Amino acid sequence: MHYLDHNATSPIRPESLSAVTHALAVGGNPSSIHANGRAARAIIEQAREQVAALAGAKPDSVIFTSGATESNNLALFGAVEGSLEGETSRITRIFVSAIEHSSVLATAGRLAERFPWIRVSHLPVNADGVIDLEALRVALREGKGRALVAVMAANNETGVVQPIADVSRLVREAGALLLVDAVPAAGKTGLDFSLCDYMTLSAHKIGGPQGVGALLVRETVPLAPQLVGGGQQKGLRAGTENLSGIAGFGAAAHALADGEGERARIAHLRVHFESALKAAAPESIFFGSKAVRLCSTSAFAIPGLTAETALIGLDLDGVMMSSGSTCSSGKVAVSHVLTAMGVEEKLAACALRASFGWSSSMEDVTAAVESLLKLRERAPKNQLSEVAA
Ligand code: PMP
Repeated sequence: MHYLDHNATSPIRPESLSAVTHALAVGGNPSSIHANGRAARAIIEQAREQVAALAGAKPDSVIFTSGATESNNLALFGAVEGSLEGETSRITRIFVSAIEHSSVLATAGRLAERFPWIRVSHLPVNADGVIDLEALRVALREGKGRALVAVMAANNETGVVQPIADVSRLVREAGALLLVDAVPAAGKTGLDFSLCDYMTLSAHKIGGPQGVGALLVRETVPLAPQLVGGGQQKGLRAGTENLSGIAGFGAAAHALADGEGERARIAHLRVHFESALKAAAPESIFFGSKAVRLCSTSAFAIPGLTAETALIGLDLDGVMMSSGSTCSSGKVAVSHVLTAMGVEEKLAACALRASFGWSSSMEDVTAAVESLLKLRERAPKNQLSEVAA
């Protein structure tokens, strides 16, 4: 089996798996004051430090959640509702990049429905998939009231890295707030929480378990809880913490702490994958390849070989990849990310994503390239020329 779908879910790292089983064996409610509760609390606090360290943040900025979807919902709903407490800082405008994950785009849409004074605008990206900073600068100047901006650190479909330092400067100058979805970027590039107000992370994208994530929040920014009940996590996210999941998240983050070597190895695999494919199939297109990209991701198309056909053929050869983002695969819809980059619909229908991670090997790369070339040979030639034209 050749697993090249780390951006969907990265296999659990051995360190994370043993932290999960250890925490399950410890058990205990982290809110209990007896010895077992204290042992559980210690596991959570250690994980909080490990997760915070991923982004150079303080441990007390970490709120554990059920995953990045919840984190993005909490950040956006929490910021807007929290901002209602002070009339002067009421959020009236939300700017989201057009390539955000659906958990940001859909949440922003719901906010506009629920709060009639909120206007949501989508910020364009260029043909390489990089946010248009000038459009952001102009957008921030228009309108009254506080703005909230959501720009991901890097895109999950293309791996294109966004200029967060520049975005942050513009946002700060305008007195706005910044949410950075760092899910695909975590562990693949450096993260700097000091540039933003809210940051989203997910454990299963870095070799931790599914169903656990975090929202990093600056102390001074608005955040109204979305889950209320017990006073867990300073009342910001009620509910008994997912002890084993959080332990596994921490261990995965810790395994990444010295990730330079891993990143270089993954980058080498990606370079090899793309150069081997390009050499044998020169018509191949690599989306966003002129921009800075994460070492882990290759979004590409062999014109004429539709993604649907390719995924089935690859799967038969034991190669697992994805077309567009996982959350939208299963339904045949053209990727909103490629659409925002101006990629033609016919070509976008051929878009595949190979994503590499800690367990990827050169054998995986070789198998993937061989399988793709075989499928290319079988693709109807008339379709090839039609799409290329
Ligand atoms: N943001 C991005 C950029 C993602 O890629 C994903 C997962 N596809 C999410 C958020 C949602 O993460 P989770 O699966 O933890 O809810």
